[in-house]
Amino acid sequence: MDLEERLRPAVLPLISWFHDNARELPWRSDPTPYRVWVSEIMLQQTRVAAVLGYFARFMAALPTVEALADVEEDELLKLWQGLGYYNRARNLQKAARQIVYDRGGVFPDTYRELLTLAGVGDYTAGAIASIAFGEAVPAVDGNVLRVVTRLTGDTGDITKPETKARIRSALAAVMPQNLPGAFNQALMELGALVCLPNGAPECERCPWQTLCAARREGTIDALPVKPPKKQRKVEGRTVYLIFRAGKVALRRRPDKGLLRGLWEFPNVTDDREDALAQWGMADAATLDGPRARHIFTHIEWHMQSVQVFPSGEALPEGWVWADRAALEERYPIPNAFDGFRACVEGQLRQTEAREAWEL
Ligand code: SF4
Repeated sequence: MDLEERLRPAVLPLISWFHDNARELPWRSDPTPYRVWVSEIMLQQTRVAAVLGYFARFMAALPTVEALADVEEDELLKLWQGLGYYNRARNLQKAARQIVYDRGGVFPDTYRELLTLAGVGDYTAGAIASIAFGEAVPAVDGNVLRVVTRLTGDTGDITKPETKARIRSALAAVMPQNLPGAFNQALMELGALVCLPNGAPECERCPWQTLCAARREGTIDALPVKPPKKQRKVEGRTVYLIFRAGKVALRRRPDKGLLRGLWEFPNVTDDREDALAQWGMADAATLDGPRARHIFTHIEWHMQSVQVFPSGEALPEGWVWADRAALEERYPIPNAFDGFRACVEGQLRQTEAREAWEL
């Protein structure tokens, strides 16, 4: 039996399950192309529950594609802060500018045209085209590959383009032409709510429990097939939380590479011990601060912080002093540094309280 034949009997049970179980989500209740697009970009690598708040905040601040095209980059990255993958936010803005300035504000309304937007790949173009414009094209992401390979028992390596292309074309052949958006969302929803990754699917709630090859053959844990992950490089870093007069020092990361252009607490790799001297703070009082760890795709930071209390307010060129309000509202700081927030907040609050007392 080929893939298409194995998928065909699963379509109706899936659509009917989705009809009864679809979550009410803001981008579903009002699926304009702009809202579907922003939600899909936010949802890459992030769960729905985590995205809801960000989505509401983003839409309140930037309700139109024109507003997104014209917003200051720091404000955009601040709205994105916590979602990670900041290049996605930058690409959203690039694409918004394509729509507003190159296309006279007209949103592309076909899968092919959507692919010409910055940061819009095969999956996102399929999702927007099917959900917002009713075009019958699949939207195949990791969730969809997982549910389809389990249902059909397909053992192709899902990181290979040929496996993805095969699954995509089988889905295109079986998808109901009048309900492409519901079909794609149903697959995504099944992957998000029932056919969960890492060996934890809830098969007894699944509309495919009597059809599923992986369940029947006991191969759920082996599917989908993908090559073993490469070991991540571990890097030790020292993070300097530099305080003075109710403010903390921040610097902007370089314009290239990891977390480019975002703001951070100054930090160095562990093999550099002379950082404070280089920054003109050799005589500053210091105190150990908290430790934290952050995992990126290819690298892991193991961070030890040092609280630093310099006697003067001079900082290296380009650095800034930020008070609590500026930390909150102005500077986009990646969540790699979340583990130091409580310590920084505590120090800044203490100074505020002391100043209020002295007044
Ligand atoms: Fe996934 Fe279980 Fe449903 Fe098969 S029966 S698709 S493994 S949840």
